[in-house]
Amino acid sequence: MNLLMCGIIGYLGKGAAQESLIDGLKRLEYRGYDSAGVAFHEGNEFSMARETGRVKNLAESVHKKASSSSLGIAHTRWATHGAVTVSNTHPHMSQDGKFVMVHNGVIENFGTLKKFLAGKGISFVSETDSEVLCNLIAYHYSELPEGEDRFIDAVRSALPQCRGAYGIAVLCLDYPETMIGARRGSPLVVGLGEDANFIASDASAFVGRAKEAVFLNDGELAILKGNEFRISTMEGQETQAISHPVEQISEEVELGDYDSYMEKEIYEQPKALENTLRGRFGEDGTTAKLGGLEGHEDELRNLDRIIFVACGTARHACMVGEYLIEKLARVPVEVEHASEFRYRNSPKAGNSLVIAVSQSGETLDTLEAVREAKTKGLLTLGITNVVGSSLARETDGGVYQRVGPEIGVASTKAFSSQACLCAMLGLALGRMRDLSPTDGQAIVDGLNKLPKLVEEVLQKGDQIKELATKYSKAEHLLFLGRQSLYPVALEGALKLKEISYAHAEGYPAAELKHGPIALINPECPSVFIVEGTELSSKTIANMQEVKARKGPVLAIAPQSVEIPPEAADDIFRIPDAHEVIRPILANLPLQLFAYHFARLRGLDVDKPRNLAKSVTVE
Ligand code: GLU
Repeated sequence: MNLLMCGIIGYLGKGAAQESLIDGLKRLEYRGYDSAGVAFHEGNEFSMARETGRVKNLAESVHKKASSSSLGIAHTRWATHGAVTVSNTHPHMSQDGKFVMVHNGVIENFGTLKKFLAGKGISFVSETDSEVLCNLIAYHYSELPEGEDRFIDAVRSALPQCRGAYGIAVLCLDYPETMIGARRGSPLVVGLGEDANFIASDASAFVGRAKEAVFLNDGELAILKGNEFRISTMEGQETQAISHPVEQISEEVELGDYDSYMEKEIYEQPKALENTLRGRFGEDGTTAKLGGLEGHEDELRNLDRIIFVACGTARHACMVGEYLIEKLARVPVEVEHASEFRYRNSPKAGNSLVIAVSQSGETLDTLEAVREAKTKGLLTLGITNVVGSSLARETDGGVYQRVGPEIGVASTKAFSSQACLCAMLGLALGRMRDLSPTDGQAIVDGLNKLPKLVEEVLQKGDQIKELATKYSKAEHLLFLGRQSLYPVALEGALKLKEISYAHAEGYPAAELKHGPIALINPECPSVFIVEGTELSSKTIANMQEVKARKGPVLAIAPQSVEIPPEAADDIFRIPDAHEVIRPILANLPLQLFAYHFARLRGLDVDKPRNLAKSVTVE
């Protein structure tokens, strides 16, 4: 995975910082959970606590020390430079003890900077790029004259020397009432509360404690001093702060009765999809009306090509979009790995539209792909879940998913809403080009049924649990589907890999005989996702090929598709539905399958090893 993660939270207020910081870290843990640490300003020194592993380990040692400081910063790490050890855990302290800093991102030229600082007599205790930046700030500070702006000037001098990405929060011993945050490439948001202000990687960290959130743009600094704050550019020009209410997201991040966020988010899908769909159809009931596309109608009508850029699960949703949009709107569609697109010199063919899809809106590879597209003068649209995210700000237009915070590392409801929005986009583009009102109406009807049909599938969760129990010993599985269900096969395999660590591959069903069929044996189950179109009989023939080689077969199939008993060992039925929503329905049992499969292995589905939720590193 190509990610940039970790979570930052800083507190400056009237009360003790400790509880807000630990609580904030727990909420940010989805961003990284290799190790966690906290530093407090104690008047004449900084106190620190750092632990490898989960935030709960850190919480124990912090509570033992019980700091009453009202200024502190904390971090949960997703290691990029240096092993998972206590000395590599943030916060990092400068050698002179004057600065502590937490950092999300990668300083690409840290080697050069480190040599420069070593030449000035500075030595390092960690292998991280972050410690280098902390010392670079301290170095500039030591070179600057005393004065009110010395701290901020030191930060302003150091950051332009860094290449790469950062979101930081930093404290200086000489400034007991000041915290500075800065970002480039990694997200950062200021939280404003009655008794305290915050700096964090995302607003979920201070839900319930701050009322307003102000999102920083790339290249901006936040200076929190006492109970005041200001935002400025790196050069020192003040910028206007636009705030968003925090209440909106508060209860959505509570786990409630569920034992994991993944489970909660799977079962939240009927409501989430209702929100994605709400108010987004034209009055005549034949098209979708996506506010973020307004003003671009002419460009959309005259499109020659669409390029989707995304990573991981979001990319699979785009592939569903590829099939649907080509069919409904007759526009050629390509789906690119964002990390590939950003480095390749894609030829400019006619009027191209780049659609970037990222749940968090902060996936670095996707953002860089958008920036590359803009350099080439292409129109860019974003599909994202996070209001005010970098993707939302940097694209020419776009659509919000509106599914509420997704905390589970393995994406579930976000996939469903992205696939749903791709279908709506196909509908809107189709109606602008050559889709008939009757076909448009049938699609609108189909989409409107989605929340209820999702509910119906989820009600059969126990059946999937039984199937997962039956197959949970398998170490290798194949997922197979055709056309718009091929991306679902890829997604089913990815979900299983991510959270259960079993090896799974997704293929187009007919591709089986061109290679993967060699893997088939009684220990390697195949999960077939059957269409419910004229192609079903072909997929059923592929199932029989597997059965003939003693491979176990689990079929996911629409109610009305007849499957001969000898073609499958098990069948899970999904409701018959319009083809535009079928991929979403067919994916639900695969989400639950992966969930139960992993739980039966005793694994923590919300925090799979080595992964982080929003990948803000390259
Ligand atoms: N590059 C830093 C490190 O490895 C920060 C990684 C992160 O974003 O968690 O410590």
